[in-house]
Amino acid sequence: MSDSPSNALTTWVEVPKNSDFTIYNLPFGVFKNKKLSPRIGTAIGDKIVDLSILDQEGFFSDMFLPEGIFLKESLNDLIELGKVTTKKIRERVQDLLLTENEKLRDHSARGKVMLNRKEATMLMPVKIGDYTDFYSSMEHATNVGKMFRDPENALLPNWKHLPVGYHGRASSIIPSGVPVIRPKGQTKDPESGSPVFGPSKKLDFELELAFITGKSTKLGDSVSTADAEDYIFGFVLFNDWSARDIQAWEYVPLGPFLGKSFASSISPWVVTLEALEQFKVESPMQEPEVLDYLKCEKSHSFDIQLEAYIQPEDEKASKVCTSNFKNMYWNVAQQLAHHTVNGCNINVGDMMASGTISGQEPDSFGSMLELSWNGKNAVKLESGTERKFIEDGDTVIMKGFAEKDGVRIGFGEVKAKVLPAK
Ligand code: MN
Repeated sequence: MSDSPSNALTTWVEVPKNSDFTIYNLPFGVFKNKKLSPRIGTAIGDKIVDLSILDQEGFFSDMFLPEGIFLKESLNDLIELGKVTTKKIRERVQDLLLTENEKLRDHSARGKVMLNRKEATMLMPVKIGDYTDFYSSMEHATNVGKMFRDPENALLPNWKHLPVGYHGRASSIIPSGVPVIRPKGQTKDPESGSPVFGPSKKLDFELELAFITGKSTKLGDSVSTADAEDYIFGFVLFNDWSARDIQAWEYVPLGPFLGKSFASSISPWVVTLEALEQFKVESPMQEPEVLDYLKCEKSHSFDIQLEAYIQPEDEKASKVCTSNFKNMYWNVAQQLAHHTVNGCNINVGDMMASGTISGQEPDSFGSMLELSWNGKNAVKLESGTERKFIEDGDTVIMKGFAEKDGVRIGFGEVKAKVLPAK
């Protein structure tokens, strides 16, 4: 057990030990329940704070927020108010939840404000305009390069000079809990070498984190690494579902397409950059030196532990991977600076995913492609069941949390069950 810091915050809300949703976190999300229409809330312990009721009861009246700003089906309008405002809202809620603050604790509306998380359905937190997926883990890029190209020259010549990425599909990004249908497509039959059509035989997950942009730019403008964090609202867990057999056949020469676009799952609570600030760690050394527009004055890397689990039907979940966001070679500021260096504009609610986050150890690889080395080695689950890729009926669960000096915050989970092809 770690010691609590002397300036520790305490809350009158009961927060279970090892909860991701402590007084230090207070992420934003969109929820509904049997009685309530979609609205914006924050999570603490096993509760949701209904921000729309707090607003109605006048707890934000000095902030002059637009009417009904929390009665929305996405966070976009709230995020668009800007970091100064969303930061104030989060700090106000934090203050109201402190042990010594009686304003909400003893308020007659407390029962309407504090709802049970279990009874809520979490919805997509943002309306995503554009989605980009990077490829920023050196270990992942090296592993894939070894398997698909040349073990001696696993990293392509550009890899250490720019954060490689591609434009993905936003329409098929779904919140945790929504099942994923096994995709069908064209693959190359390993025996005949001819193309065949059918359900993917190599369905995989990719363990990633994604950030949501909180500020737009004008076409032609660029964001520097120094300013990048002003444009990042927060993060979610991101499972970039991948059909390896479809991907391997289709990706030359223009990159990922149908092997990726059938689904990506995200965790529903957006953890703010402010909450993650204290978990910053030094970024990895970059050698060779990068071009000036990619250089960073400060660190933009975060110590966030990430885990992936497989739960076959009627079995319990087995952990198959433990990785860490701090392993990323390219950081989020570099990703955003590179993305906009050509003048490409970004909008509020764009999603930029990290790419698979693999570490150096074999149990830190963030995909089945790497864990099973493209199906060569079976991955043994706790029950003895073996997996090379993801089977129908399997549920894939990802978790992420940061812990330091007795302070813990986390993302909850992103979870999805795989259903047979249609
Ligand atoms: Mn990916």
